[in-house]
Amino acid sequence: MNRFENWAETYSSRPQVVKYADTVDDVVTGLEAARAEGAAVRVLGAAQSPNDIAMSEEHLLVVRGLNQVREIDRERCEVVAEAGISLGELAAALARERLALPNLSSILRQSLGGAAATGTHGTGLRWGSLSSWIEGFEMVAVDGMLVRADRSAHADLWSVGRLGLGALGVQTAFRLKVVPEFDLRVEEGPVSLETAMQAEWYGGADHARVWYLPHVGHAWGWRAWRVPAERRRTEKHGSEIGRWWKDRVLGYHGFQAGLWLAGVFPAMLPAVNRAYSGVFLKDPRASVGGSVAQFTFDCLFHQRVAEWAVPLEVAEDAVTAVRELGERGGFQAHLPVEIRFTAGDDIALSPTFGGARCWIGIVSYIPWGRELYWRPWFEAFEARMLAFGGRPHWAKEFAIGPERLKAMYPEWAEFQAVRDEYDPNRRLKNRYTERVLG
Ligand SMILES: Cc1cc2nc3c(=O)[nH]c(=O)nc-3n(C[C@H](O)[C@H](O)[C@H](O)COP(=O)(O)OP(=O)(O)OC[C@H]3O[C@@H](n4cnc5c(N)ncnc54)[C@H](O)[C@@H]3O)c2cc1C
Repeated sequence: MNRFENWAETYSSRPQVVKYADTVDDVVTGLEAARAEGAAVRVLGAAQSPNDIAMSEEHLLVVRGLNQVREIDRERCEVVAEAGISLGELAAALARERLALPNLSSILRQSLGGAAATGTHGTGLRWGSLSSWIEGFEMVAVDGMLVRADRSAHADLWSVGRLGLGALGVQTAFRLKVVPEFDLRVEEGPVSLETAMQAEWYGGADHARVWYLPHVGHAWGWRAWRVPAERRRTEKHGSEIGRWWKDRVLGYHGFQAGLWLAGVFPAMLPAVNRAYSGVFLKDPRASVGGSVAQFTFDCLFHQRVAEWAVPLEVAEDAVTAVRELGERGGFQAHLPVEIRFTAGDDIALSPTFGGARCWIGIVSYIPWGRELYWRPWFEAFEARMLAFGGRPHWAKEFAIGPERLKAMYPEWAEFQAVRDEYDPNRRLKNRYTERVLG
């Protein structure tokens, strides 16, 4: 039997049947096969989700091969791309037409369908998640029917299906609003957490990201301004060998070794965090370069992550509460605690439904496959986020179930009504949907 696991190797499943779809017809056939057996089926994009959202013990339909760009309209700034294309492939195709995705997450490996289904986001108060750029999509419903949804046709499906958690049907293509290509001027450096959490600081740039560094004494601020594209490459400093030594040997293997040791001797963690920051997060720097390279960065090795979106009004207090937890002994608070900001939207199950929010994310690395004491830190973090009215990232670790989630989302019932219409027998279920959607 095939074993599937997510990138972080934190969740796996053994589907009874695995089908690969390179075309829309393959999707129809894949769904038919599940229907014929009365089996449940889950869609898999690029398996990047840190939780078990994409796992299946029955049928699994892998759509990564459905990855063509069907159409790019430069005048209207729109693209139609198939759901399995990776964000990196899509960004490259757009760049050839001097267009770009409006904003980006930290990595580019996700499939477009997976990123949309989970509301994948970057940072920037005026920019929403990827789901909010969706003008329309094509979907094969579990009964095999091909539906095209946008503001005028199947508008209910379009509205909630922009963030559908893989629970409404198999999306095969998306029409997205994109933008003319742009560069980013980035300034980053040490900053006090108090300063960075002021609206003047994070709202004073097009894009802002703050890394609170537990046990370090300063935070790391990253701010970016959009500037006209000049097809510049982001400048790299130092020699090739110097960069290899610093990034690969110290930043990757050295950090991993430090965290592994801190797993055995927890009292070492503050020193590991300080050592890493001393090399990588000490001196201010500035750069200008293409948006793709500037938005993304190396997220290093396997890790558990949780991320919650809290209302902007309480963001500073929520971050302070997380800092108090992080500085307290007993928790393995790895760096960074990442703080980002995104615009609000009107998508039923979007964590930013109804207004701009501040995202707070924690990480627990898994050095050389060694799981550290992540659970107490994550549980304490989740309790704080709940107290501040947070909503969890759908693809990351969280423990709450349907009762609490329902209370967070005013349009929960609308989502469930569309789900009842397109998947009345819950063919698209897995353990995650049962735990989370009820
Ligand atoms: C190192 C790392 C960094 C990350 N950085 C960010 C970040 O900066 N911001 C952020 O928001 N997230 C981030 N994520 C999370 C990631 O963006 C999401 O988990 C995303 O869903 C992964 O896409 P995928 O293609 O791998 O989806 P999968 O994990 O394969 O699937 C996710 C969900 O999408 C559904 N799905 C996939 N394709 C389709 C389809 N065609 N039709 C219907 N449903 C479908 C699946 O059924 C499943 O429910 C990061 C993850 C990692 C590992």
